Amino acid sequence: MTAGPVLLDAPSRRRAGAGLRGIETVDPAEVDRSDRLAMMRSGELGSVHSWELVTAVDGPGTRLTVFLSGCPLRCLYCHNPDTLAMKDGEPVLADDLLARVARYRGIFSATGGGITLSGGEVLMQPAFAGRILRGAKELGVHTTLDTSGFLGANATDAMLDDTDLVLLDIKSGDEDTYRRVTGRSLAPTLRFGRRLAERGVTVWVRFVLVPGLTDDPANVAAVARHAADLESVRPGTVERVEVLPFHQMARDKWAALGRDYELDGTEPPTPEGTEAVREVFRAHGLTTY
Ligand code: SF4
Repeated sequence: MTAGPVLLDAPSRRRAGAGLRGIETVDPAEVDRSDRLAMMRSGELGSVHSWELVTAVDGPGTRLTVFLSGCPLRCLYCHNPDTLAMKDGEPVLADDLLARVARYRGIFSATGGGITLSGGEVLMQPAFAGRILRGAKELGVHTTLDTSGFLGANATDAMLDDTDLVLLDIKSGDEDTYRRVTGRSLAPTLRFGRRLAERGVTVWVRFVLVPGLTDDPANVAAVARHAADLESVRPGTVERVEVLPFHQMARDKWAALGRDYELDGTEPPTPEGTEAVREVFRAHGLTTY
């Protein structure tokens, strides 16, 4: 059923990984379409874009970050526009991915790291994600979910119990700006955040600062209030806030995909501007980087 490993270049500093090097992929020609769909529904099989071994991003320690394919949002600043369609990923068995996780157990325990599921949007494939999280916990590996929270309702309580940390991207604080940035509604993200707080899951809030798009003081203040609200539901929930300055590293990907990129002329925020926004979060008592 499995084809040989896909050998691609070593991971680079591109945001998404460089491919599925070393992880076996399923040859679609060898599996009947209805079987494949059934395997995806059960979580045995997932659509995976790539993976990367990283340190000091995507959670604590050295992490195996796995980028799943498919996303319901269309963020104007999307740094991984090549992960948006589920069909663009490669079919990977949960067991094969877990074998890779097992291989890195030594690195994870030496660095306090683990696995991070990212994307795309992980919660487009909740059954697959659930299996990976469960399998990682059985291996004693720290688990992180990087999500917009828009599909938070897809996450079962069992999945959350297998999740040590959620990187919750709050892409804007007010409904209108959120819709302009993502094409979707903010409310599901806030509902998911509250559920995480009530369930005792640790959260790192992430906010991408884009001049002219998300940097309006009222919008920033609203994101900070949402983060502080989570903290008030259960103190200690929001371990940190990361204010991420917008960058243009994805511009070439947008061009290669032939998609209109509205932020072509947008400059990254200045270090002073980014620091001023961090201060807004700190004023709410939040540890902010
Ligand atoms: S949620 Fe992430 S992957 Fe999806 S469009 Fe937004 S930035 Fe891109």
